[in-house]
Amino acid sequence: MKLKEALKLNKNELKSLTNELLQKAKDSNLNAYIGFETKGNGVPILIKDNIQVKDWSVTSGSKILQGYIAPYNATVIEKLLNAGFAPTGRANMDEFAMGSTTESSYYGPTLNPHDNSRVPGGSSGGSAAAVAEGIAIAALGSDTGGSIRQPAAYCGVVGFKPTYGKVSRYGLGAYASSLDQIGPITQDVEDAALLYDAIAGYDTKDSTSANLEHTPIAPNLDTNKKYTIAVIDNYIQEADKDVQKAYAKAVKALEDEGHTIIHKNMSNTKYDIATYYIIATAEAATNLARYDGIRYGKRASDIKNIQELFIKTRSEGFGDEVKRRILLGNFVLSSGYYDAYYLKAQKVRHLIRDEFNKIFDEADLILSPIAPSVAPKLGSTHDPLEMYKSDMFTIAINLIGLPALSLPIMKNEDGLPVGLQLIAKAFNEQPIFNVALNLEQSINYN
Ligand code: GLN
Repeated sequence: MKLKEALKLNKNELKSLTNELLQKAKDSNLNAYIGFETKGNGVPILIKDNIQVKDWSVTSGSKILQGYIAPYNATVIEKLLNAGFAPTGRANMDEFAMGSTTESSYYGPTLNPHDNSRVPGGSSGGSAAAVAEGIAIAALGSDTGGSIRQPAAYCGVVGFKPTYGKVSRYGLGAYASSLDQIGPITQDVEDAALLYDAIAGYDTKDSTSANLEHTPIAPNLDTNKKYTIAVIDNYIQEADKDVQKAYAKAVKALEDEGHTIIHKNMSNTKYDIATYYIIATAEAATNLARYDGIRYGKRASDIKNIQELFIKTRSEGFGDEVKRRILLGNFVLSSGYYDAYYLKAQKVRHLIRDEFNKIFDEADLILSPIAPSVAPKLGSTHDPLEMYKSDMFTIAINLIGLPALSLPIMKNEDGLPVGLQLIAKAFNEQPIFNVALNLEQSINYN
């Protein structure tokens, strides 16, 4: 059922829809849900495990937060409740949203519904797998470097990462504060617009929230408007055949629909991964310092002194990927290396922004791959550097705070979804949705 129809249901109908979804989720083998709570009466929305819902457990997929109960609602949850939605169920995720596969969760991996031997993507893999499987009608995820868009692409659903500052992060477990945004994962473009409209807007509780009126997207969807869309030719060469095929299909559909395609190249993309993994880990190391065994969640036992309390709690509570990033983040922030790594990364961030802005002087939107391939096999990304490389198409968007929507375009020979993303200038989101809806209607993904 789509959100528009669900929003018309009465209380009893909503209750049976919710029960039906929860039962299906309990019977499912995907491990997409890690909790089955509901809050309030409304259209059920699955919530990633790093967004606070008052009185629910919130663990960011980590052992260190076992036992922690959220003392208040995140702003997005308040907004959902006010708009006729009801937080329902907890979605699995990579620990502290660090990862691209949902394999680093304390609760074990989530499986891809199209092929259970593959990952659903990450870090919002639980949210995307559940929507694709029909055990959630829509979900919230968070995107620090692709975590909404990439699992949406691997699972064949729609994911939207809003402009930085458009959705309040109050009540979101922080990973990298200059990059994190909450956004919707849905069955189609219209649902993404509806759910986004419900959660967007200024919030005094988040100092990075943009003090702007949100103009609703859904009532203004217009597939007749024609746009200029840039394709980045040297970018696409880095992706495999399936992705290139999807790209060709989308470009043709856009041209057939009367949009203008222009061809561009980008030279700074080779710095994206290094820049992102310096900034993200620096911010993560800082944000995760608060998990000390005193203020939140789990505390190690048999402690002799405060030093041991910190060390034992953190050693036992964090998984390998999180530890790796804390080490990396503290390294790039340490004296002597700060200028060489962190400061340089901040400068490169500006170069990347300038290059995107130059393209936006001529184009309304950019069409880009999301991942270099379809969903990989579970357990196949042993090498962390290989995993980091798979973020090459998504992370620049977070580094410069742009909005981007991931749309399923086709399935490959094995029936695995391939998605692409539409990217726009900051705060200029309507064209993304207009073109995405136009593409959705013209390419017939299903
Ligand atoms: N894969 C990226 C990372 O591990 C992005 C994760 C995210 O967006 N939360 O940092």
